[in-house]
Amino acid sequence: SSEEDPADIKQLPVVSTKNSAQKHTKPKPKVKAVFVVLVRNSDIHSLRASMRQLEDRFNHKYNYPYLFLNDEAFTDEFKRLSSAMTKGKTEYGIIPKEHWSVPDWIDYDKAKEEMKKMEEADIIYGGSESYRHMCRFESGFFFRHPLLDKYDYYWRVEPGVQFFCDIDYDPFMYMKEKKVKYGFTISLYEYEDTIKTLWETVKEFMKKYPEYIEEDNALDFISNDQGETYNLCHFWSNFEIGDLNLWRSERYLKFFEFLDQKGGFFYERWGDAPVHSIAAVLFLKKSEIHFFNEIGYKHEPFMHCPVEKNLLLKCHCNPQDNFDLQGYSCTGRWLQINQQPISN
Ligand code: GDP
Ligand code: MN
Repeated sequence: SSEEDPADIKQLPVVSTKNSAQKHTKPKPKVKAVFVVLVRNSDIHSLRASMRQLEDRFNHKYNYPYLFLNDEAFTDEFKRLSSAMTKGKTEYGIIPKEHWSVPDWIDYDKAKEEMKKMEEADIIYGGSESYRHMCRFESGFFFRHPLLDKYDYYWRVEPGVQFFCDIDYDPFMYMKEKKVKYGFTISLYEYEDTIKTLWETVKEFMKKYPEYIEEDNALDFISNDQGETYNLCHFWSNFEIGDLNLWRSERYLKFFEFLDQKGGFFYERWGDAPVHSIAAVLFLKKSEIHFFNEIGYKHEPFMHCPVEKNLLLKCHCNPQDNFDLQGYSCTGRWLQINQQPISN
């Protein structure tokens, strides 16, 4: 039989694309951009499925590199099985301890107490410390990893996500040419119980640093009353195409530090999605945020599937499952404040 025993996988040679003759003919990335994947060794197989779709739908024509990040060392098996999925360069980074631990100004007993309460209240990931490290890392540190220094743009990918449509243009080039700083495909409402004091903290920040707030911003997307209260809308950050200089900017670094000092990543369960979204909304012009309607995408349990007939032709999703105009999505609101036609 030609079937391989799964146990033999470990014996497969390291796949090297670096020395192949193809190297000189294959397309080269045109923008300094990278896919960034925070992932555990145990997620290798769902990661490979996502990479397969991303490669088939887009990256085989561009060969953008991948950067995998982990709070632990990647195994050789993980490296072999992931690098085999792409002709692009693959890099593997370990997250420094300071970016994945409880800072000394946090009262750890209090944090554990609050986690226990949130667990008992059945708040999703309410009792998980590692989830909090993940959210804090994605909020404040991923872009400081030295392996990202050479890039201008990133596309966040998670193991298990799906890509439904042929992407026959380069979204990174689009970002660069149109001066877009943040791109999304899905938006929705956050669980209020995870961010009880986030908005009052943001308001305090805005009062202290009014000079950081962009004038032509998209505040109306996240507030129904000019900023008095947060309406819980946010871009779903498991998918992001972004300009790294947004997060590297003085105002964002100040913003993250301000939030981090308040302790809400641990005492509550502030997610990187509302944190990134609020920052993008306050610090960018409305026109610098882009809805990537053509990119059909699913992260359980929600999908964005383009419903326009010409777009759908290039996709394999069911437009009836498109989440955009369902009650729990905020994308209708986004289209409205941007005076874009609402289809569905
Ligand atoms: P959800 O999307 O909010 O349900 O959270 P996920 O469990 O998907 O985590 C978000 C991202 O962080 C995914 O890319 C995960 O692979 C990654 N992730 C979450 N926790 C850990 C962790 O403890 N270690 C590592 N290396 N990655 C993690
Ligand atoms: Mn996820």
